[in-house]
Amino acid sequence: MVKSLWNDQEAADWPGDLGQRVYSSRLLGREPSLVLHGGGNTSVKSTLANAFGEPQQVLYIKGSGWDLATIEAAGFAPVHLDYTARLAQLPSLSDTDMVRELKAQMLDAAAPTPSVETILHALMPDKFVDHTHADAVVTITNTPGGEDRIREIYGDTVVIVPYIMPGFDLARLCAKALAEQRHDGTVGMVLMNHGIFSFGADARESYERMITLVSQAEDYLAGHDAWDLPAPTTKVPAVDTVAYANLRQRLSAAAGRPMLLCADRSPRAMSFARRPDIDRISQQGPATPDHVIRTKRTPLLGDDVDAYTAAYKDYFQRCAVDGLTMLDPAPRVVISPQYGVCSLGASAKEAGIVADIYRHTMTIIERAERLAAWQALPEQAIFDVEYWELEQAKLNKAGNKPEFQGQVALITGAASGIGRACVDAFLSRGAAVIATDINPDVADQVSHPAYHGIQCDVTDAAAMDRTLNDGILRFGGLDMLILNAGMFPPGRPIKDLTLDEWRRVMDLNLDANLSLMHAAHPYLKQACPNGRVVIIGSKNVPAPGPGAAAYSCAKAALNQLMRVAALEWGADGIRINTLHPNMVFDTGIWTDEVLQSRAAHYGLSVDEYKTNNVLHTSVTSALVAELTAAMCSPLFAATTAAQVPVDGGNERVI
Ligand code: ZN
Repeated sequence: MVKSLWNDQEAADWPGDLGQRVYSSRLLGREPSLVLHGGGNTSVKSTLANAFGEPQQVLYIKGSGWDLATIEAAGFAPVHLDYTARLAQLPSLSDTDMVRELKAQMLDAAAPTPSVETILHALMPDKFVDHTHADAVVTITNTPGGEDRIREIYGDTVVIVPYIMPGFDLARLCAKALAEQRHDGTVGMVLMNHGIFSFGADARESYERMITLVSQAEDYLAGHDAWDLPAPTTKVPAVDTVAYANLRQRLSAAAGRPMLLCADRSPRAMSFARRPDIDRISQQGPATPDHVIRTKRTPLLGDDVDAYTAAYKDYFQRCAVDGLTMLDPAPRVVISPQYGVCSLGASAKEAGIVADIYRHTMTIIERAERLAAWQALPEQAIFDVEYWELEQAKLNKAGNKPEFQGQVALITGAASGIGRACVDAFLSRGAAVIATDINPDVADQVSHPAYHGIQCDVTDAAAMDRTLNDGILRFGGLDMLILNAGMFPPGRPIKDLTLDEWRRVMDLNLDANLSLMHAAHPYLKQACPNGRVVIIGSKNVPAPGPGAAAYSCAKAALNQLMRVAALEWGADGIRINTLHPNMVFDTGIWTDEVLQSRAAHYGLSVDEYKTNNVLHTSVTSALVAELTAAMCSPLFAATTAAQVPVDGGNERVI
């Protein structure tokens, strides 16, 4: 349950009206049951001197694109207060024109675009205004008879406004409701099926009123046995990850681009997915309308993507007016008794936001069901927010997408050297990365929502299968496989080479790759847009060295395996190519000591030794990784079974 996080000592570090506004906004942002991912907004009325030193009455309002949890002073846009409040007197104003008016009233041209709820904030005489989409409040307002319950909870301490779409019309309706209902004892305003406002003379009063109002709603739920939910009892079943990857492929086709599909198979999510009434409770709409932008109106139940997209097109036909552009008809949430509750997004971050929102939505729905019944807004009301003119305007402004957005790569030997550099190369191109290594550092060497590091011995086929399954459920599929893990044993002439050592090298450098290719093939076949494999070979394939029999033979056999796979997998659209690096010295094997001894062996300085190739250039892990990523890109769309040297030019190879 929410409680006040106000701390006088902390608050003292935030001087001035705007400082106090930032401080208490962050307190709201710290509680996800109040605001989630850009939801909610706050404001303060203050004065700001213009260039002539004349004080201006301003409203500092949260700018769009900022999260309350992390907002800074720069996240608030100052607008002329009087003019902004007067806008509510206009009989009508399109939302596009409203935003244009608000931008024209900004006292700082570099500030972010003011929230669409700005006029509403300007209307209230109180210095501080806080607005959230608190879970407990939307739980109660989304039930039959919700308004009566709100009255029962709050009496006349809040103004109640029926649902209307956010924007100019809502501001006008609130102006009217405030004029009619507000009195000295009013501390807030409830917007049915949307959220709640509180206001006060200082930051603490407004914030603590929000906490009190939301606590009253939470207490009401608790008092009606609708707060605590039964502990989940569903066992998490085994899952067919190949079928799951197929679902992700079909969802990506519906979305028109590769998408990640992230499964939540926790007992909590599985229990929700298996509720006997899931059809009724999940197919109504979101908890508060602006979630529709992230989650779409309804989740896909089961795995019939075609039926979902057909129903989505019907919904668009039913609700749209002329001139609207239909969004992609793919769902963003998938609920299935096998897979649990899954979120779909073009990036791991986007899918994570969808997952967070839906996790809250599940709780809201289940509590509403315990209280009375879950009853979301009618579809037209949700549609109007989904197809809001301001959202439609954004469609044409989409910037350049990262090359591998929505795609998944698995990289072996990812904790150091070329493998580690590949992690960066693929992440920077927007891919989600499953990284494995025998070194446990792989688990948390990178902190990024699209990074999933798993410690695993690549020669343990069963463990690699588990790792692969885990990665598939995490991101939805496998599009690119980078076979990099390998060992470079100490030099040993054939006469001294034992069969044991030979087998150890073969096991890691060759057999493990065969096992992984075997396990990965069903996923690569269903890749988005097509499967790609890059093998990190070696200069030793075209130009073997004495003392490296096991290593050279393993890499040569792996190279031959690549050529056969190219023939066998071409019909599935899978490309497979090999890079032959040489003299990559920024890897674990090449300590300063080894470098010095090898350089001395050839009578060269270390620098001369490092660039001892035709181009006299140094070959770095990053360079090999960049080429690895490039080989997975459309540049190489018509290339398979190629062997490309990355060695600065080697006379024996040329
Ligand atoms: Zn709102």
